[in-house]
Amino acid sequence: MGQRGKFLTQIAGFRGFKVKDAHWENANGEPITAVAGYDVPADAILVLTMARRWAARCGHCMAIVSGAPHERGDARRWDDLPWAGHRTKLEYAPERLDCLRCGAHAIELLAWAEPKQRQTRRLQQHLALDAFSMPLSHVATKYALSWHTIRRAEVNAITRWEQTRPVTMLRMVGVDEKWLGRRHKLQHKFVTIVSNLENGEPLWIGHGRGAATLSQWLATLTAEQKAAITLFATDMHAPFAAAIRADPALAHAPVVHDPFHVIKRAGEAVSELRRQIFFRASDELREVGRGTRWLVLRAWKRTSDEDKQRLRKLFSLNGKLARAYQVVEELREALKAPDKESMEHGLRHVLYRTEKRTNKPMRKLHDSLRSHFDSIVALGEHHPPTGRIEALNGNWETLVRRARGYRDHNYLLRKLRFTTANPVRNARGVQRFLALGLPAPVQEAA
Ligand SMILES: [Zn+2]
Repeated sequence: MGQRGKFLTQIAGFRGFKVKDAHWENANGEPITAVAGYDVPADAILVLTMARRWAARCGHCMAIVSGAPHERGDARRWDDLPWAGHRTKLEYAPERLDCLRCGAHAIELLAWAEPKQRQTRRLQQHLALDAFSMPLSHVATKYALSWHTIRRAEVNAITRWEQTRPVTMLRMVGVDEKWLGRRHKLQHKFVTIVSNLENGEPLWIGHGRGAATLSQWLATLTAEQKAAITLFATDMHAPFAAAIRADPALAHAPVVHDPFHVIKRAGEAVSELRRQIFFRASDELREVGRGTRWLVLRAWKRTSDEDKQRLRKLFSLNGKLARAYQVVEELREALKAPDKESMEHGLRHVLYRTEKRTNKPMRKLHDSLRSHFDSIVALGEHHPPTGRIEALNGNWETLVRRARGYRDHNYLLRKLRFTTANPVRNARGVQRFLALGLPAPVQEAA
């Protein structure tokens, strides 16, 4: 194909292979001839016939195999990334080789796809990337592929990543309960998620949120794994601690409550108080309080000047809410204490203030903080790395809003782990994502 073939080969960019021929087809596989030499329908499919440039490599061991092929297979097709909006397919008849090195009758190594796959690797990576930020049905429409193809591509991308990541020893364990959302009819409305606090990755998901659920996971650990655990950080849900304490092999591991959940509990008290106040509020107060639902949960130093102004006005009209907000601010500070003594001191001061409150939400917070006092103060001693818990929570909420795999906990877990470990927030994240688990390019055959 001369110059044209060279350009097409360059665009295709598969090392060791060239584009031998190219033609257009309609959706039924019938060839299309361009009108006036140039105009093809928008839904025309570009078919690229590929040819190998050098000796074949064994798909099993990657050794170069010279000599006649064992057998030439039928022409096969692979979906590739769209070319300027046109669906594109690669066509090639792979050879079955007699490999001298490994002795296999293996299909030759293809630069674009893994064995038995019907899409190029790079298309699968893009499908997976899109599937993490879009509903699967949108991705399917965008690429004119079936829903199942998208799901499989996603699972392949996750599998490739899983196979290339190092195995880490579990030392600090996070245990958390999660609501599955409204849109399902499952018996259990909650799941329990166990995660590795050091890298933030979720490890296990179980139905329910009782002691029995967590015990199920604990039962999967060996004595050696249990001995390696140095700490558990849980939310303030008592059954989790009960399950851990019921296991004598874990007696050495302290159970602490991570700051994220302590503050969340305090936030719930403030929200409840705000609701009660506005339930019988004057028109003036209602007007000021409109849209402050999230504002009263935010830390003062993370609030904009404009919002601070609104909060000041709200608090000047209602002292009860002002004091509750202040208590949460103090709690936030107390939880940052560098050691056990100062954490204990700070927390006692918060308790002193909540004790005097006569309203029910703050009393409830008081009782809750007091009953979990030891596990909260233990934070100052052990300092579990809980910063990633918030990222996990964010990913969970995105997943639950979109996921259809509620019943398939394994899929949900793998996807959650994958998105937590591979955040896509910027260009570098996207590049990293698209390259995940891809093999290093093979060297040119000499
Ligand atoms: Zn081989």
